[in-house]
Amino acid sequence: MTDDEQARRGSLSRRVARRLTGMVRVAPVLRISPGFRLTIAFDDCPDSACTRGVEVLDTHGIRGTFYIATGLLGQAGVSGPITAAPRLRELARNGHEIALHTHMHKDLTRVSIAEAIEDLSINIKFLQDILGQEPSPHFAYPFGETTLSLKRALIPHVTTARGVRGGVNRDFSDRMQLFACDLGSHRPDFMATAQRLIHHAADSGGWLVLFTHDVSESPSPYGISPQALSRLVKKARDLGAVSNTVHDVWAELSSN
Ligand SMILES: [Zn+2]
Repeated sequence: MTDDEQARRGSLSRRVARRLTGMVRVAPVLRISPGFRLTIAFDDCPDSACTRGVEVLDTHGIRGTFYIATGLLGQAGVSGPITAAPRLRELARNGHEIALHTHMHKDLTRVSIAEAIEDLSINIKFLQDILGQEPSPHFAYPFGETTLSLKRALIPHVTTARGVRGGVNRDFSDRMQLFACDLGSHRPDFMATAQRLIHHAADSGGWLVLFTHDVSESPSPYGISPQALSRLVKKARDLGAVSNTVHDVWAELSSN
């Protein structure tokens, strides 16, 4: 077998594994209350999410969820310079959610379960030190990658785990692999997809998590412009979405 064939087979088996992992719900949420819930989330997160992104949230009077990989803080990232600790404290003071995204931001399908859990515990410890309080117990998989065993292994450690599979969370969605919608401009159809999911959630109810990275006039392939983000938030709210952090939507769902 040539290297090329080997690589193709490797990626095919990864695609199959990814699909199977997504199909098996390890911790289904029994009931998502009727109505349209919306969360705006930022992964990693570049400093522009904390400035331009927060400006958009402020315009609409809503708060966001920031999934932080602590090992990236202060580093140069593919979507711009990653934010630093003081900004996280400011976000938390202003009512935004600081949530988990591992420390090293590795693809967790390529490390052992023990290593993944260890990295998560370092992430929690760093965020505790930065914030002076417990971070949110909600988590997003780096690159959205996970396995069936990892989803199961994380159940005692996090309350929800968000992936990157597109969709609206409904009754029996897996809380260990929540659906989301990637607002990354590398996807030529990302605005149309987000709008379709917004209509879907408005028509039938459910919880839509829109996530991105940087927010900039000239976004990276993983980010979005402030104008486009604002248009999506406005559209969702015009169609009846109640917007809140992952933590607060989850708390509301759990109390029903
Ligand atoms: Zn990430």
